Amino acid sequence: MLPENTEFRITVLPLFASGHVIPIIDMARLFAHHGATVTIITTESNACVFQNSIDRDFEAGFKIQTHIVTFPGAEVGLAPGIENYSDVSSRHLQAKIYQAFLILDKLIDQEIIPATQPDCILSDLSHSWTTDTAERLGVPRLVVSVSNFMAYSAEHSVMQHHPEQKVASDTEAFEIPGLPHRIQMTKSQQPEFFIQRNAFTAMLERYKEAERRSYGTVMNTFYELDGVYLEHYKKIIGIKAWGIGPVSLAVNKDMKGKSERGNKSNVESEELLEWLNSKEPNSVLYVSFGSMVRFPPPQMAEIAHGLEDSGINFIWVIRNKGKNDGGEEEEGLPEGFEERIKNKNRGLIIRIWAPQLLILEHPSTGGFLTHCGWNSSIEGISAGKPMVTWPVSSEQFYTEKLLTEVLQVGVPVGAQWWWNMNEEMKEIVSREKVGKGVGFLMGATKEAVAIRKRAEQLGAAANRAVQSGGSSEQNLVSLMKELRAVKFKGKA
Ligand code: UDP
Repeated sequence: MLPENTEFRITVLPLFASGHVIPIIDMARLFAHHGATVTIITTESNACVFQNSIDRDFEAGFKIQTHIVTFPGAEVGLAPGIENYSDVSSRHLQAKIYQAFLILDKLIDQEIIPATQPDCILSDLSHSWTTDTAERLGVPRLVVSVSNFMAYSAEHSVMQHHPEQKVASDTEAFEIPGLPHRIQMTKSQQPEFFIQRNAFTAMLERYKEAERRSYGTVMNTFYELDGVYLEHYKKIIGIKAWGIGPVSLAVNKDMKGKSERGNKSNVESEELLEWLNSKEPNSVLYVSFGSMVRFPPPQMAEIAHGLEDSGINFIWVIRNKGKNDGGEEEEGLPEGFEERIKNKNRGLIIRIWAPQLLILEHPSTGGFLTHCGWNSSIEGISAGKPMVTWPVSSEQFYTEKLLTEVLQVGVPVGAQWWWNMNEEMKEIVSREKVGKGVGFLMGATKEAVAIRKRAEQLGAAANRAVQSGGSSEQNLVSLMKELRAVKFKGKA
């Protein structure tokens, strides 16, 4: 094996959507904290989002840097500065970003990655072509899936066995075959591209084929959370796998790191903390649907009524239409809503981007109404907070099952329909459902107390996992040793 002080270079290639960039940057930093020399390939406006944290790590002595490539936005007709899928909501503009990255991928494959002389490539699942790059360069590729092993396994089973074809209606329950737990779902909760094969299905299959030829997968999860499914994953995909999370807990330890993570918030952290400090412990519900979901006005109105009628304190992050993407659209908040909650000091509305880690970790925050995006879910878990689950798209309905049935740290709001965010919603979740879900979670029934207790216990386990000797920390130590051994074998 290579001596520990021999340089080991990892080249990191994120997918540029907030929910993908954030965890892979945390992972890149984690590898640097464990002795690797890390180069992150990025574009200028994407780098702005995380460069501060890289600079701080660099100044602290870690070997980590960004390599900026010019984004060919003008070539595909995009306005300057639009370089991230989360900046836009229309399919048309997302397709342009995709086209621009296709142009860039060739350059990254042929010139940029080889110039970084990697000993390992760490890349998003969607950069399937990096498996070939790694093979050509004779180095391992580690795949980063922005998911958990349970959701991944459920999704894989549906793609393979199509259990939804055995039921007569969209809402009849079926069991997902071959999983360690009995998980029942409906056709209405499945991604449309599993039910009706399309170009996206074929693309996913390509990703998975490349994944199977990769060295292994790392996910932002930990053994005590979904270790059973990690073992299951190794059996069904046939490659190595590691849970190395929660990565955010491992690298964003101070207030600056927590408040600056992701995009810049338009609320001052001090102001926010002052408001939270003025509230009783566990009395505030945090409401956020991640970086992509933008609900139409009728749904926004139901959420607003549900929250207002519940009488519970809340912080609600609202994302209106993306910059250069149609501008100021109607939000749908009921008349006088903001004024009323402000006057009663009941709630805070944060527009576009909130410092989520700071809010979740605050003792006054007692629950999280989440869309079950995996980053948000594991951040809620890390903070020991129980959740009201409101899955919308992607793999979120599978993660809901993990949170509510396997881990039992959440309660469903009752969302039934997977929503392709470019089309009309098939259901509007009513104010009554919202009120019932949040009222139950923030209440004091025996069941709610049990959920809260389990969430606290899981939060403690998450914190232990990333400490010295914890499962994720140990996984990372042994993974680094293994990668160094692979490098040595290659040079022997
Ligand atoms: N996030 C944040 N502030 C916001 C919205 C999102 O910090 O106002 C972060 C959140 O902490 C998480 C990520 O953005 O790390 C969203 O990822 P997730 O997987 O939850 O959802 P997605 O955006 O991919 O749907």
